[in-house]
Amino acid sequence: MPYHPSPQGSRQARTGGGLLGMLLGNPRILMALGLVLFALIKYNTTTVKQENPFTGRIVTVQDMTPEQETALGLQSVPEMAQQFGGAVRDPLLRSKINEIGQRLLDAKERIVTQRGKQEAEFDYKFQFHVLADKETINAFALPGGQIFITMALLSKLPNEDAVAGVIGHEIGHVLARHSMQQMAKSGLLSGLVNAAVVATSDGTGNSSQIAQVVGQVVQTKYGREHESESDRIGIQLMLEAGYKPEELLSVMKVLAESMGKGQRPPEILSSHPFPETRAEQIDVYIEFFRKNGPAAEWKG
Ligand SMILES: [Zn+2]
Repeated sequence: MPYHPSPQGSRQARTGGGLLGMLLGNPRILMALGLVLFALIKYNTTTVKQENPFTGRIVTVQDMTPEQETALGLQSVPEMAQQFGGAVRDPLLRSKINEIGQRLLDAKERIVTQRGKQEAEFDYKFQFHVLADKETINAFALPGGQIFITMALLSKLPNEDAVAGVIGHEIGHVLARHSMQQMAKSGLLSGLVNAAVVATSDGTGNSSQIAQVVGQVVQTKYGREHESESDRIGIQLMLEAGYKPEELLSVMKVLAESMGKGQRPPEILSSHPFPETRAEQIDVYIEFFRKNGPAAEWKG
């Protein structure tokens, strides 16, 4: 039967032509569909699958170069410091933290070289900061290598090996690009898809976006897998650097004892079966890397 368009027909297409007709006939729905489509396209173009050169795992990360990550982290340092009493200026303390951090980073370079990977792939500008907060027991890593430990935590750690345990764990989050993975996951909803804009702008950046990045890092609960991965990397770095990786267990103990005072769980404890399962896991990692060497690849 030939098709004769008529006023009646077009009205049907708008109002009574089934679900599709209804959707296409309603400009507001059309607009909403367009927005969703745009968000999906944007999501897919701002995340990328890549093999992490340190862990050997293929993961989806925010599409940012290490240079952009570094810029994003650097711009967020003042905001992070401000939230935890400001940066400690004591030159002795600062040089001690830098020394421990550098010893772990030298170990990282040796592990990378032993694995035959290019150092340039890991060209993060690490910086270590002690924050003056004497109440909040915690440590954090911003994207790109800005690492923080509070005075409250530092003053409770029994020895240098334990401090290296905390710093090594946080370096692990950076090397495994965990915050980039978190951003890739939450980017669609959180507005952090705009983080790349902050990272490429020179100078001040957008303060509300920086606040978002800091907020995300402070409140992030990494998954168990990410925490375990950071534990492993920390243990590898400690072993290669000549620290006692068993002291990571005394860090866990200090953190666990600090709980129950109404504090938010410290970053390192944020998402775990603790303490028994985590301690058992750590024992297994230490045994594995002692036996196979710190540059061995974990096949878990
Ligand atoms: Zn952690």
